[in-house]
Formats: sequence, structure tokens, C-alpha cells
Amino acid sequence: MRKNFWKNIPLNDLSSEEWELLCDGCGKCCLNKFSKTKKCAPIYTSVACKFLDINKCSCKVYSEREKKRKDCLILSPKNINKIVNLLPTSCSYRLIYEKKPLPSWHHLNLPKNKNVHNTKNSVKNFAISEEYVDSSDIVNFIFEKF
Ligand code: SF4
Ligand code: SF4
Repeated sequence: MRKNFWKNIPLNDLSSEEWELLCDGCGKCCLNKFSKTKKCAPIYTSVACKFLDINKCSCKVYSEREKKRKDCLILSPKNINKIVNLLPTSCSYRLIYEKKPLPSWHHLNLPKNKNVHNTKNSVKNFAISEEYVDSSDIVNFIFEKF
């Protein structure tokens, strides 16, 4: 991992380790959302994909998520220009793509005692798994736009 890679190196040139480290682990991209078109900013709900471990905000099927979940946003340096609007505005990949700094609470910026969860920047404290929500009821879980 190169020093301050997120500040100096374009997304396209990151190693896979650096790319993965950019993710803040917020889990916001794993919430169910509505979008009129692929280019429209989506409206989020607080209902999470059934594969999200809400306590850790991590994917339980990460290596096979493409197979397990057809609408999973598989982000890469190659497609970020096409799907950036679907990402929450706080998403680290979106911030870097838009040439903005990572937030002060991001794990790459901060000591270990503060992180995405205890600064309340993850979905840990409010998301509910789709396993417990009837699909016809999901509109009642519409959440503010990130
Ligand atoms: S499959 Fe994993 S990465 Fe994809 S939306 Fe579900 S929890 Fe998130
Ligand atoms: S929204 Fe972005 S930073 Fe947050 S978990 Fe998803 S990919 Fe990672």
C-alpha cells in the first residue's frame, strides 16, 4: 500500500488492495433503493440487502455477490463513471472520483478509536434486513437521500 494513495493516485491506478481499503464500510450502498433511471440519484430506504451483516456493515457473500444478488452495485474503476450517481454522496469512491477529500472520520484519516460506526456514519444503527420486511411495505421505509 502506497503512502497517502487516496490523495495522490488516480482510481484507475490503484492496486486491488488500495481499492478495497478505500471503502469506509458504511453499508449505505447495500440499502434497497428506488431509481427512475440509471443516471438518477436514487431514493434510499432503511431496508438492507439480506446479505448485509448489519452489525458489521459487511457483505456476507462478498466474493460471490455478483452471482447472489443481481442488483448488487459492483463498483470498479472501469464503471464508476457510469454509476457514480447511484452511490451515496458520502461514499469514499464517489468523493475521490469527484476530487473531494475523504471525511475526517474515514479510517484512512483517523486513529483506530474512531470509525464509521461510532461516528454514526454507517447504517448499523438504523438498517433493517429485507428478511423482516414485506416487499409491499418497503415504501414505508423510505429514507432521506444520502
Ligand atoms: S450482495 Fe453484499 S455487497 Fe451486494 S448489496 Fe448485498 S450485502 Fe451489499
Ligand atoms: S457506500 Fe461506498 S464507502 Fe460505503 S460501503 Fe458502499 S462502497 Fe463502501
